Amino acid sequence: MAHVWRGVVHEYINRLPVDDNDEIVTLAEGGTALVRSADLSEQLHADVYIKVEGMNPTGSFKDRGMTMAMTKVKSSGTQIVACASTGNTSASAAAYAGAAGLECAVILPAGKIAAGKIAQAIVHGAQLVAVDGNFDDCLRIVRQLTEKYPVALVNSVNPYRLQGQKTAAFEIVDTLGDAPDIHVLPVGNAGNISAYWMGYCEYAGKKTASTFEESWKSEKPVATKVPQMWGVQAQGAAPFIAGHPIDNPETVATAIRIGNPASWDYAVAARDDSHGNITCVSDKQILHAQARLAAKTGIFVEPASAASVAGLLQHHERGHVPEGATIVCTVTGNGLKDTATALGDRDVNPAVIAPRLEEAVVALGL
Ligand SMILES: *Cc1c(COP(=O)(O)O)cnc(C)c1O
Repeated sequence: MAHVWRGVVHEYINRLPVDDNDEIVTLAEGGTALVRSADLSEQLHADVYIKVEGMNPTGSFKDRGMTMAMTKVKSSGTQIVACASTGNTSASAAAYAGAAGLECAVILPAGKIAAGKIAQAIVHGAQLVAVDGNFDDCLRIVRQLTEKYPVALVNSVNPYRLQGQKTAAFEIVDTLGDAPDIHVLPVGNAGNISAYWMGYCEYAGKKTASTFEESWKSEKPVATKVPQMWGVQAQGAAPFIAGHPIDNPETVATAIRIGNPASWDYAVAARDDSHGNITCVSDKQILHAQARLAAKTGIFVEPASAASVAGLLQHHERGHVPEGATIVCTVTGNGLKDTATALGDRDVNPAVIAPRLEEAVVALGL
């Protein structure tokens, strides 16, 4: 019988901090595809796989963490959740809060959220507040709010979020049979790189700084090794390159437009302990990688997600990618969330013809 995927908490319950009386809030997230890119593999003389996180229920990897965080909020009896968001966290929080029967408040940087993500938060029933400031201002406000009011914080500073997100690394090892040599992913608030590193380490029988005591149930190691973690930031929002938080982050990749990453220390540990690196790419490189991935691999991702592929291509140009390596690139969110940026100044009005075959043949130049 076919195995029906039950969501990351049920699938990996032995490695997650779930209590017997927790009522699991899930939308069957995770179980996303790992697609080999012939185009990138050929160019790099390596095996390049794309972990397609846009396949999650709300179209980004945020759902992996939200199932775990919302399960715990529900058990705690708190009625309202809140988050600061560059868009995808609010889309995910709103959906899972709805499923859990909770209220959801969202604090967003005004004018900096892709239209599809705003639509998701609204349709899923969240209450939105726009701040004349950036994501870092929003996170500060929501942290203060949740300290003073009976409201649960569901940003990735909530440790249950990273617990859920680490399952992406489990899925990759379960699919490939072992950890890859290199894992490439975009870095914004730096929760995801920390979560992947935790997942890879736990599967190889090691703890990390972010490992939960409760989730460490001494399961047998599954992987024989851990990958190098290669993080990629946008040039205009690259605090890890500067070595300190930056004040006015700016990039077309709004999901990683963050100057003061919350998971700073975990991300630095992931980079250094894995003998990896964090680099940055320009908006132009990001948009080029986005178009290439869509046209030549068949996967349409949002700009922030394409930063991982842009970073990998830049490492290749600099001669830093070993031939024959097994490489996984996480693409974090679905391209349909932000079609305006993807289309840019492309001509979106195809020639209009009379409804006759011959006219179509002429228009197509066949
Ligand atoms: C949240 C997000 C990121 C950044 O992840 P962090 O954990 O904040 O580093 C990247 N891409 C997309 C699409 C996201 O939604």
